[in-house]
Amino acid sequence: MELRFLGACSEVGRSGVALRTEGKCILMDYGVLLDDEIGFPAHISAREVDAILITHAHLDHSGLAPLFYLRDGIPVHAVEPTFKFSDLLIKDFLHLSGYYLPYEYVDLKNMMDHAVRHRYSEPFEIDGISVVFLNAGHIPGSSQVLIEAEGKRLLYTGDFSTTPSRLLNGAEHWDLDLDAIVIESTYANEDHPERLALEKEFVSRCRDVVERGGTVLIPAFGVGRSQEVLSILEANNFEHPVHVDGMALDAIKLLAEHPESLRDFELFERAVKNARWINDWRDRRIAVKTPSVIVSPAGMLKGGAAVFYMEAISQNKRNAIYLVSFQIPGTPGRTLLDKKKFVIGGKERKVLAEVDKFVFSSHCGRSELESVLSRLDGGAKVFVVHGAEGNCERLASWASEELGLEAHAPRPGDIYKLE
Ligand SMILES: [Zn+2]
Ligand SMILES: [Zn+2]
Repeated sequence: MELRFLGACSEVGRSGVALRTEGKCILMDYGVLLDDEIGFPAHISAREVDAILITHAHLDHSGLAPLFYLRDGIPVHAVEPTFKFSDLLIKDFLHLSGYYLPYEYVDLKNMMDHAVRHRYSEPFEIDGISVVFLNAGHIPGSSQVLIEAEGKRLLYTGDFSTTPSRLLNGAEHWDLDLDAIVIESTYANEDHPERLALEKEFVSRCRDVVERGGTVLIPAFGVGRSQEVLSILEANNFEHPVHVDGMALDAIKLLAEHPESLRDFELFERAVKNARWINDWRDRRIAVKTPSVIVSPAGMLKGGAAVFYMEAISQNKRNAIYLVSFQIPGTPGRTLLDKKKFVIGGKERKVLAEVDKFVFSSHCGRSELESVLSRLDGGAKVFVVHGAEGNCERLASWASEELGLEAHAPRPGDIYKLE
């Protein structure tokens, strides 16, 4: 058996790992890198691939998968609502991003026609290779992939979080006996603050802003994080208006069809019912004049209605912008966080509103990653992916120095044999 790393090598984006056994090849994720220009993982020919597994719907894991459906098709496996979310995100990507993409809407549709839907923890076979999706606790439908073939066991974590959130249960544990693990490392350099304390501080800061007559903008991914923020506000009895905009609304409708994917569906329903849904520009103009919280895409302020909101609220110090997810270097959200500046009308301007981050992460923090690796026994090989700014190398060095494991931070195109 061999592993070929196609992307997410020392960066957060364009995930893709190919697993080849005697005569068969399974591709796990095939995503894009969202930067000023869109980046693709290393090439793998459609003829080589026998099946695709998608760990979750984020575009850095699923955004290039339709490329395999230009002519005919192969089965694509995932846990719902992954397909529904992928369809939503990729359609948006095709229509609104302005990026050049090497596939079209019909290819996405063809991919969806080849969807094979699974439940967590129910093993299935692909040509003699045993596969099971385990809950990853990252977004609804997100999975880790446990594979057994040719007497070897491999875990690909995808993006995962072992800590439960308001929306999701924490990632499921697997037993210790692995021959290899491919693990993400988004937060290998830092620990997350204690979650309940962070929630309390966040809600109390939102309350302060609204009570001084200001508006809080919370740029958040439409799928997952927006609903998490709504649930946090609801669970902490936030009594002021909360607006929700953009793709978050489509995702809410899809989640209503998948109560099994949520930790507390009743809390989610209450949060959704109490939020004010923004349907058009008239609603948006009213929202920015209302002392309230506005939850809107895009999560890193790259396009989406959040750009309109930034123009409307960033120049008044009564207001606040609270970032709630990882900001990839180079994105407008990262620039806002690091320099308190934002481009408005083509010009970079100082932001007068309060800017802060409350990272309600859906990824493991440093000690969670380390404790996962500490549970492995000596024979397991470790491959660290999906980390920026030295995090893949950092976690791989830790695993080899502290645990004595064979650990690598692969480069794109690297092939490793598991023997
Ligand atoms: Zn993700
Ligand atoms: Zn990711």
